[in-house]
Amino acid sequence: MLFALAWIVVAAASMALRAYGEAAVLLWLPSGVAAAAFTVVPVKRWWILILTMLAAQIFLSLVFGSRWSDALSYSIIAIVQAIIAAGLGLRALGGQHRAPARFAAVLGIFGAAVTAALIGAALALPIRADQTLSEFFWWFSANVIGILVATPLILRARRLLQESDEADYDRILPTILAVLCLAVLGTAVLVAGTVALAPAVVTAAVFITFRFGHTSSALCVLAFGAMSTFLSTGGNSPAPGADLSVRDATLAVQSWMLLMMATTLPVAAMLMKREELQLQLIGRNAGMHENLMLLDLAEELAGIGRWRFDMVTGQQNWTPRMLELCGLSPDLAPDPGDVRDLLPDRARPLFSEITANREARETYSFDYQFRLAGNAEKILRISVLNEFDIEGRRVALFGVAMDVTDQVQREQALDLARGRAVKLAAEAQKLANTDPLTSLPNRRCTFARLKTMVDLAGQRSTPLTALMFDIDHFKTINDTYGHQTGDEVIVQVAELARRQARHGDVVGRIGGEEFVWLLPGVGGPAARRLAERLRGAVESGLEGSTLPNVTISIGLAQFQCGDTGDQLLARADAALYEAKEHGRNQVRRAA
Ligand code: GH3
Ligand code: MG
Ligand code: MG
Repeated sequence: MLFALAWIVVAAASMALRAYGEAAVLLWLPSGVAAAAFTVVPVKRWWILILTMLAAQIFLSLVFGSRWSDALSYSIIAIVQAIIAAGLGLRALGGQHRAPARFAAVLGIFGAAVTAALIGAALALPIRADQTLSEFFWWFSANVIGILVATPLILRARRLLQESDEADYDRILPTILAVLCLAVLGTAVLVAGTVALAPAVVTAAVFITFRFGHTSSALCVLAFGAMSTFLSTGGNSPAPGADLSVRDATLAVQSWMLLMMATTLPVAAMLMKREELQLQLIGRNAGMHENLMLLDLAEELAGIGRWRFDMVTGQQNWTPRMLELCGLSPDLAPDPGDVRDLLPDRARPLFSEITANREARETYSFDYQFRLAGNAEKILRISVLNEFDIEGRRVALFGVAMDVTDQVQREQALDLARGRAVKLAAEAQKLANTDPLTSLPNRRCTFARLKTMVDLAGQRSTPLTALMFDIDHFKTINDTYGHQTGDEVIVQVAELARRQARHGDVVGRIGGEEFVWLLPGVGGPAARRLAERLRGAVESGLEGSTLPNVTISIGLAQFQCGDTGDQLLARADAALYEAKEHGRNQVRRAA
């Protein structure tokens, strides 16, 4: 409704100017009002807009004396033109009614206005069949300029009212003053009729647009159009000073206004783009600043040092913390010069790591260990990132460092203690299972191994032989040579038995001079043969040994299904007893 009202006011004013003021109206603002209306009103409510506009236009045409049929035709043409201008314009602006911020958008807006006005003028041809070519052009360009001037001004005014942007209000007065100056200048040029001054008006418009933004561009053309229309009242030429007919002057001034729009709009677009970029840049800078502050804070809290070395310029940037970590004075920040003269051992380990990783594209880390002046040890964990140029040359190093001395020393001490504890535990375990005299498995260990072997033999139905052997008349040895020699004899028998055993066998000392040899996987005659071999070996004694010769008696028992370890050994013991009974130095097999 408001748009229809605005249209009536503007159109009535324009038509009155023509009809009663005899003015050559140079810009047909109603077409811009209609285009703005179709830009703003949602499509589903267009029908209301179309009906009210239609009613307003027919009414006005009739008031100004048009015929019914003409009034209807003109109204329909105006609406079609407005819809085309709004649709194409919106499309050029990417669907939003905002000022064009790109050259392509400016071009699109121009295209929309020209296309719409051309179609409008073409549709009007049948009604205005007797018009001349210049009349056609007058109609066409008045509509183009009307759309290009009024549409953005209405949309801008609407936004100002909606958003009440105070910053923009401050600019209104200077803008109006500047535009008025341009109007005065334009009028002076038109009155003087000096064509050579024309570029001055265009230049002024460009300058005003540059200074006050895109809205002022439309305002400039509007002001200039208004002044030239005023000059043309009473059937006069809009450029009275120029040596042109009224018709030619009208066309010339219209062309001028088109030129002014074509010059100022791209400038406005460029300005908006620049403003947008500037805002983006400011935003990004603020974000970066905030990130840097967070980084500093995080570094401070974590005690992290940071350093960057530009390999092209040789410039370095050390944070004071980084210098402190390396045992240097924080006052040397940001560029301490050649640190090799300052760091202990000329920082050789550090530089060799950096050299070794010259091709690395990922972050690499290493521990840099050195001694401070007071001989205290320090370990820095350093992570470095190489920076490369487009040709793949390493051009800079970026590194962070953290003091891990305590951590590493704690870890080292822990590792040492853990190693010791493991060793002690192993030794204790061994002691608990080993007979100290012969180093053979003791009774406890032997019985434990026996149990495992019995279980396995039961599960897999494999043979298992237990040999129990005892040194013959050992008491005599002790009595004759002493206890010490007795011990040595026990050790020697143990050694001889160990040599007979195969991998996987167990030879254990289960009593004073009593032993057990467990043979998993062995049964039948083979077991007997091995027992005989052992007996023979003991009888022969160790080569070169000065100890008294001894013999052993052996009891042999084989695993039977359902046997426990004790039952198996009890049978071996019985067989041993039998061997003793039957004269010793022999092998007896259990029943
Ligand atoms: P037999 O032929 O019947 O076995 O006669 P034996 O003299 O060997 O009799 P027995 O096996 O009963 O004697 C065991 C002796 O071994 C008793 C003990 O003094 C001695 N003996 C036990 N343990 C040790 C030891 O660790 N070292 C020494 N030197 N002697 C031991
Ligand atoms: Mg004995
Ligand atoms: Mg004995």
